[in-house]
Amino acid sequence: MINVTKPFLPPLDEYIKEISDIWKNNWLTNNGPKLVQFESKLRDYLSNNNTSLFVNGHMALESLLKAFNFPKGSEIITSPFTFISTTNAILKCGYIPVFCDIEFDYYTIDTSKIEKLITKKTVAILPIHVFGNVCDVWKIEEIAKKYGLKVIYDSAHAFGEKINDINIANFGDANMFSFHATKVFNTIEGGCAVFKDPKFVDILNDLKNFGLSSKKPDEAYYVSGNAKMNEFQACMGICNLRYMKQNIEARKRVVARYIHNLSNKEGIKICLTQHNVQSNYSYFTVVFDPKLFDRNLVHDRLKDSGFYARKYFYPLTTGFKCIKKYDKSNTPVAKMVSDNILSLPLYPGLDAESVDKVCDVILSCINSGN
Ligand SMILES: *Cc1c(COP(=O)(O)O)cnc(C)c1O
Repeated sequence: MINVTKPFLPPLDEYIKEISDIWKNNWLTNNGPKLVQFESKLRDYLSNNNTSLFVNGHMALESLLKAFNFPKGSEIITSPFTFISTTNAILKCGYIPVFCDIEFDYYTIDTSKIEKLITKKTVAILPIHVFGNVCDVWKIEEIAKKYGLKVIYDSAHAFGEKINDINIANFGDANMFSFHATKVFNTIEGGCAVFKDPKFVDILNDLKNFGLSSKKPDEAYYVSGNAKMNEFQACMGICNLRYMKQNIEARKRVVARYIHNLSNKEGIKICLTQHNVQSNYSYFTVVFDPKLFDRNLVHDRLKDSGFYARKYFYPLTTGFKCIKKYDKSNTPVAKMVSDNILSLPLYPGLDAESVDKVCDVILSCINSGN
C-alpha cells in the first residue's frame, strides 16, 4: 500500500550521533541545550529571531492566540477549509470563529469577502496557507491595517516557503508552523510560534510551562498547561533541517510528474505553483468536477489499486458536530472544494511509476460523476 505521505527519517546513525549528546548532558526537556541549538538554527532558517518551540503545532497556535489576550467572545475571521486544529484553537481560547469562504484558485481565504464579516467584536484574521499554496498576504495586511486587526497565520503546511524571497514566517503578526511527522519537516511531533512582538518571548515561555514565570521565581501569571518540546524532538529537528532543501527538490519532482500527467484533463483541477512563491510542495491535490467524477469512487478505486489518497480537508471544520453549533457562515466554495478534493500520495522518493499509476486510475474514473 502506498500512503498519502511517508514521514521523513534522517539516517539512523546521524540521529544516534545527535541524541548521544542527551546522555552526556543528562537533560531531557525544559529548554535543554539541544532545544537551544535547534532554535538557533531555526531562526537562521526562518530569518526571524522571535521564535518559540512547542510540543506540537496545535499548542503553538493555541498559545499564540492566548498570548494576544483578546477579550473573551472576540471574533476571529478564519476559513473552515482547514484541519480541525485551527478552529479548535480559536474556540478553546474562548474566542468566536467567523468563517469566511475560500477562493477557488488556491483554496485560501477569499480576501474579497473578509470586510463584510468585520464587526465591532472582530480582533484578528486567522488565514491558513494550504497545501503549499500561500494566502494573498499583501491584501490581508492591507485589510488588517485598515481595521486595526491582528493577523495570525496557520502556516502548518508552509514551513520552508518564501514569497518574493521573503521567508513566509515574516508575514503577519504571528505564524504557527507544525512539525508533525506527516509534514514536510518533522520533529516527530512539534511546532513553532513566530511573532512580531518581542514581549511574546516571555509570555510564550510561561504559557508552555503551566503559566509559571520564567523571570520571577515562585510566581505564575497565567493559568496554563504544559506544551514544551523535548530534547529528542529537538535532535530530530537538527537532523531533518539538513535535509530540507533536498526533500523539497524531491517533492518538486513528484509534483512535476503529477502536473505533467493531469494538466488539461477534463473535469480535473490542479494547482500550479504560484507566481513569486518558492513552494515546499507539501501536498498535491486535485479537485474533481462532480459532473464528471465521483470523488468518493476515485478514492475507493485508488484504494483498491493500493494507493491511499486522502479526502483532505474533508469535511469542513464547520461540518464537525462539536463546531457546527458555532457556525452561521455561508461558504459555498469551501463546501464544493471539500466535497470534491483528493490529496494524492506525495513524499520524497515516491517513484514515477507509482505517480503514473495513480494518474491512470484517476483518469479511468471519468464519467463516474452525476
Ligand atoms: C497539522 C496541522 C495543524 C496541527 O499541527 P500539529 O503539529 O499536528 O499539532 C494545524 N493546522 C493545520 C492546517 C495542520 O495541517
